[in-house]
Parts: sequence; C-alpha cells; structure tokens
Amino acid sequence: MMEFEYLRPASIHAALSAAGSHARYIGGGTNLVDLMKSGIEQPELLIDINHLQLAAIEELPNGGLRIGAGARNSDTANHRLVRERYPLLAQSLVAGASPQLRNLATVGGNLMQRTRCDYFADTRFPHCNKRKPGSGCGALEGDHHLHAILGGSKHCIAVNPSDMSVALLALGANVNVRNRNGERPVPMSAFHRLPGEHPERDTHLEPGDLIVSVDLPSPVFAKNYHYLKVRERASYAFALVSVAVGIEQDGDRIRSAAIALGGVAHKPWLAADAAAMLADKPVRDIDFAAVAAAAVNGAKPLPQNSYKVPMARNAVQRALRNALEVA
Ligand code: SF4
Repeated sequence: MMEFEYLRPASIHAALSAAGSHARYIGGGTNLVDLMKSGIEQPELLIDINHLQLAAIEELPNGGLRIGAGARNSDTANHRLVRERYPLLAQSLVAGASPQLRNLATVGGNLMQRTRCDYFADTRFPHCNKRKPGSGCGALEGDHHLHAILGGSKHCIAVNPSDMSVALLALGANVNVRNRNGERPVPMSAFHRLPGEHPERDTHLEPGDLIVSVDLPSPVFAKNYHYLKVRERASYAFALVSVAVGIEQDGDRIRSAAIALGGVAHKPWLAADAAAMLADKPVRDIDFAAVAAAAVNGAKPLPQNSYKVPMARNAVQRALRNALEVA
C-alpha cells in the first residue's frame, strides 16, 4: 500500500477545504481500503468523515425522508421509517453484502463502490481502461460472463455492483452533493455514468465533491414493491441481474410504476419505457412479457453474457408479479 496522510476533520467545511483530486473521503472503507491495499486506489490524503454529523435519518417537510450519507447500511435498512415507507430500499440493502459489511458500510460509500470486474480488481492483468486509462479492456476478449448487456462501450463493459443504488433509482431519489461552492441535488438517474470513452469515471462527481445525504420523495411504493436479486449463490454475492419494482396502485388500476435494473450496465439502469407501459392500466390488462421485453430493449450482449437477456426479462416479470401479488 502506498503511503498516505490521514485527516480527521472537525467539520464538513474543514473536510471540503482539504479535499481535491489527490484525496479520498473514507466512511466505512469496506471497498476503498481493499482497493488501496491492492494499489488500485492511491490517494495521497484520506479524509475520515466518520465523526462528522452525517448519519441522521430524518423526515422532510414534503413528506419525504433524508438519509445522511454516513448512515450505516444496516441502520438504514432497519430504520422504522425506511421499513414502513420505503421497504423497497430496505429489501435492496438486506440483499447486499454480509451483515458484518452492512454494519460498517455507509450510504455514501455504497453509492461510490466500484465495479467488481476481475480485470479491474487484479493488478496482474495489464489491460483495464478503468484502472489504467488507455490500456485496453481485458473483459471484451476475455471472461465477460458477468458483464454489461446495456450501455457498454468498446472501452469498458463493467457493471455497477450496488443493490441499494438500483432501489434508489426506482424510488426517484436525489443525492445531495456539497463542495466549496455550495450544495446541489443530483438525481439518481444522473449520478452514475456510462463508460463511454472514460470508464475511469464511475460518476458525474468532481474531485472534492462530498455526498452529504440522499433525499427520498414522498413515498408512493410502500405497499406494492419488490427487489429481486439473481446471483450465483444464495448470499454474499453480487447480482447477475437485479430488479427493483415499485407500483402505485389505485384500486385495480396502476397509477404509476418504476422499474430499475442492476447487474446489467455500468450504472443502475432505469427502464422508464417499460414502466410507462404500466401507467393508468388495470392490473388484469398488463402484458407482463411485453413490459419485460421493453425493460431490456436495446441490449447488446456478448457471447458469454447473452444469458442475462432472458434472465433480466424473467426477473422483471417475477418482480412485477410479486409486487402486484399476482401469480
Ligand atoms: Fe476494465 Fe471495464 Fe474492461 Fe473490466 S470491463 S477490464 S473494468 S475496462
């Protein structure tokens, strides 16, 4: 591990003043420390934000909920208001990692976790544009059975590993980001980025930006929801495919819906067209297969991951049926 300086600032202002491209904020450190040990992340300065006032979970005047970036994943999943009003989020958090990791990992860190592509994680592989820009992509010609079927580029086909982010996208969350110039809300749909020509960048954040909280809008998916995660073993594994579904129902009719997918792209994938097919429809008129097909419209699988297309379609159908409690 490279030598680095460690700072434990007394305030958010002090943390922002010290930050820059050479620095990383550390919360739980469950991903960052591993990456530092293997030399993939080499910050000169580590800014410990664990002791700042960033862990509160509180109601918003508009009926929504603000979750501090420093809130632990387990505390968030177990919080009464999250369980009552945003059970989709609680379900996604419980689906992620192990209890020990959830006790340490934070909401902000979960949003920032990096891909688990083996070529990225193992520095013995020379070709990884995300780890070393311009070096090529080992996965394109190598093992890509876990990789993206949507939104990839010739420079990277990695997938985002976060379960929580998929649920936050379906819930329409905003990420509140602060820097020396002030604070701005970033919609979840604009937080992570596709790889394009710069797969080294996972998000639209700039150096020094600090995630301070996540705002959830007034809850509409508290009754009909489902987070479905398909993985290679029953626990402590990343998603091959995951689906977050929220349905707002009015009697027998669907008023609105949201569908987001994980494990299929460089960012959590919003299936807005598929969700729109559900709006203002009686449940009995839903063509589940057509909605599921629309959710992966435009998929460009590679030889080893073409199984993800039918898997994603089936997962969308199953999640929708579970959310609506129909067989
Ligand atoms: Fe690196 Fe992305 Fe290619 Fe994986 S898919 S080897 S992270 S460039």
